[in-house]
Amino acid sequence: MDLGLKNRVALVAASSQGIGLATAETFAAEGCRVAMCARNAQALQSAAEKIRSQHKVEVLAEACDVSDASAVSRFVSEVVDKFGAVDICVTNAGGPPAKGFLSTSLDDWNSAVAANFLSTVYFAREVIPHMQRQRWGRIITVTSLTTKQPLADLVLSNAVRAAVVGLVKSLANEFGKDGILVNNVGPGFTATDRLRELAAAQASSLRKNESEILDRWAADAPLRRLGEPREIAETIVWLASERASYITGQTLLVDGGMYKGL
Ligand code: NAD
Repeated sequence: MDLGLKNRVALVAASSQGIGLATAETFAAEGCRVAMCARNAQALQSAAEKIRSQHKVEVLAEACDVSDASAVSRFVSEVVDKFGAVDICVTNAGGPPAKGFLSTSLDDWNSAVAANFLSTVYFAREVIPHMQRQRWGRIITVTSLTTKQPLADLVLSNAVRAAVVGLVKSLANEFGKDGILVNNVGPGFTATDRLRELAAAQASSLRKNESEILDRWAADAPLRRLGEPREIAETIVWLASERASYITGQTLLVDGGMYKGL
């Protein structure tokens, strides 16, 4: 299937590892020019170099903290200076720590709001005017299964991700007339460093080992396994493609069927 993405400019935030990195690689495999960012410049540059040599596409990689509005503004300007456009913007960030409500501090809440909600506001403000000018754009947010099904000890994610869904639907309504499609992808338990961190935290509080926790999470999904970053990435790339041109304002879970509702 031709996804119609060749030469499009795809910006993928928080992409030095995990789901962000897999997404940048998958856009590159479709012939997109790719812009990547993360806080750690060294890990980011080596990820970018690997993508350049494997897929022979142009890659811009810049250190940027997505919870800093002026850093996001500078990064988007650099992308537009280099590529002349930003067609696709995937917003992503590291997830908040696993905590029950009374263990959270106000700093935890402020950090979660900044990284997991405001970062999307910052990117949307910067990219939408460019997308409006070309009357084509895709914004895809990476959130979580928690947008539909709150999980124990993830109160920061459960609460803050819901705001992203409200924003996605609002942007989809407001900018559909400009050819800008806005959707949200919610991963379930996916085999990345983030998941191993969550498993380690739960293992130490339950006095179990990490692999028991991971096995239990895998068994909870009807597909009886964890997701792979590639599987989230391929969904994001499909949503950005011409093959998903009448889909906007949606949350699509990629969770092996883990969500228990209808
Ligand atoms: P990860 O921890 O493996 O990777 C996170 C990436 O974000 C890294 O590249 C890191 O450098 C970058 N990053 C973190 N904070 C940043 C910041 N402030 N500015 C710029 N870059 C930053 O995480 P992942 O598993 O790939 O998850 C990506 C997102 O999906 C997270 O929000 C996570 O909570 C969410 N999610 C993951 C899972 C899962 O099972 N892995 C499930 C549901 C939701």
